Amino acid sequence: MVPQESNTSHNHATSGSKDWGQYRGWSRHAYTRKCKLCGGPAYGEYCRLCDYTLFQIDEILRLYLEGTPPEAMDKAIAEFDRIYFSNLRLRVFYNTACEAVYCAMMNPNSPLTLFEPNFSTVPEPKVLAILEESGIVSREGESVIAGPLLKKLIRLRLTGYLFTSEDFSKQLGIVYAILTLTVTRTLLKHEEFIPQIVVGIFRVISAHVFRNVSSTSIPREIPRSTWDTGFKGINPREEAHVEWDLLGLTPNTNPRIFENYDSEKEQFVSKECMIYYYEYIRDRLREREIERSR
Ligand SMILES: [Zn+2]
Repeated sequence: MVPQESNTSHNHATSGSKDWGQYRGWSRHAYTRKCKLCGGPAYGEYCRLCDYTLFQIDEILRLYLEGTPPEAMDKAIAEFDRIYFSNLRLRVFYNTACEAVYCAMMNPNSPLTLFEPNFSTVPEPKVLAILEESGIVSREGESVIAGPLLKKLIRLRLTGYLFTSEDFSKQLGIVYAILTLTVTRTLLKHEEFIPQIVVGIFRVISAHVFRNVSSTSIPREIPRSTWDTGFKGINPREEAHVEWDLLGLTPNTNPRIFENYDSEKEQFVSKECMIYYYEYIRDRLREREIERSR
């Protein structure tokens, strides 16, 4: 992780973002290593944007698995559902997690019958191992059964609703988003399967939050330059695909995270619900810096 910073008298919550960056020490150290996720220059194991990305995922998972998330956060994190859509190779992990939800709800007392892992270039045992490590499935002899996280999510969020009700689809979106984040966190521990597209989306948000870390309100407009920073080093075709997907330009997907692209000003316009998310992450980052400077 990034090195601990020495004490400083700066009040970073009110200083400009440039000062805040200097306070963080990013400009004082020579880049000495390669980031484990994106390969960019890094001070520690990860570059700043990837470090913030891991921090975002950990904070949201902690809030959802241990805390009481506010309703405003529910709306925002549901936007992370299906962000594996354009990741053809790695979406098998997400698709299998969704299949596990379906099986566990339809036949709560039976082993899971999962077809998705058989239709991927990733070998089935690897898919199941990642899902097992994520708590989504467990093994019982030769059988695959629902894991502790999956059971908990179904119990807390998906029981007692009509499948057609609005509340059910809202909760299902949240469950899928939590599974997305959990699977991503597990994949990032194994260098073999880094979901670059998903990491790219979180890196864009990291860059946007960092650029506005000192503002009282984070704008919903994300400049194209911030987007490019987040997706730096990623195959341009994959980057284009994720852009079409998030803007709802691919068949069968609705816009997610963003509600529009302003081509005159060259900026992505976030959905209103995302501002809460950006500001939540900004506040957690500030808290972490205060902790570290003590
Ligand atoms: Zn990185």
